[in-house]
Amino acid sequence: MYDDAVDRRPAKPVRIAVSSCLLGNHVRYDGGHQRDEFLVDVLALVCELVPVCPEVAIGLGVPRPPIRLLGDLTRPHARGVENNELDVTAALTQYAAHMAREINEISGYVFKSKSPSCGIRGVKVHVPGARSASTGVGVFAHEFTALQLLLPVEDEARLAPPGLRDCFIERVFAYRRW
Ligand code: SF4
Repeated sequence: MYDDAVDRRPAKPVRIAVSSCLLGNHVRYDGGHQRDEFLVDVLALVCELVPVCPEVAIGLGVPRPPIRLLGDLTRPHARGVENNELDVTAALTQYAAHMAREINEISGYVFKSKSPSCGIRGVKVHVPGARSASTGVGVFAHEFTALQLLLPVEDEARLAPPGLRDCFIERVFAYRRW
């Protein structure tokens, strides 16, 4: 006999967006990936990981010319390393706004560190005339996190120490409950 009062549907998995290259997908500018063992071999067992690659999504293709952050430190542009005329700032910003609205029921986001698109801290910014190196935030990550202010976010480099890793997972599950 079944008890009709009990909801027997399986609980929905916790969903976390992840920079696609960290999941072993060959989406980097040079056709490579940055597979992260913790994400693929551990976190994927308990969460649904949703791959996102903004540079592929805006049509840059694989392989593609590499880009870098250039210009004003507070709002740098994403421009081609070899071809300064290539400026994908607007496309990355628009895609971030689209994803912040449309991506379904995620409870966290793990970004690729140091990427001019996905990095959430410490991304090298080339400021013309500056003597020392400066750092900032990737264009896609900047817009996405501004529009998803409460979402727990980290990059894979910061998830290496177990303490920070546990803290992030707790924040993700708390966000999901909330
Ligand atoms: S860092 Fe971001 S834009 Fe670059 S390959 Fe990975 S997912 Fe794509």
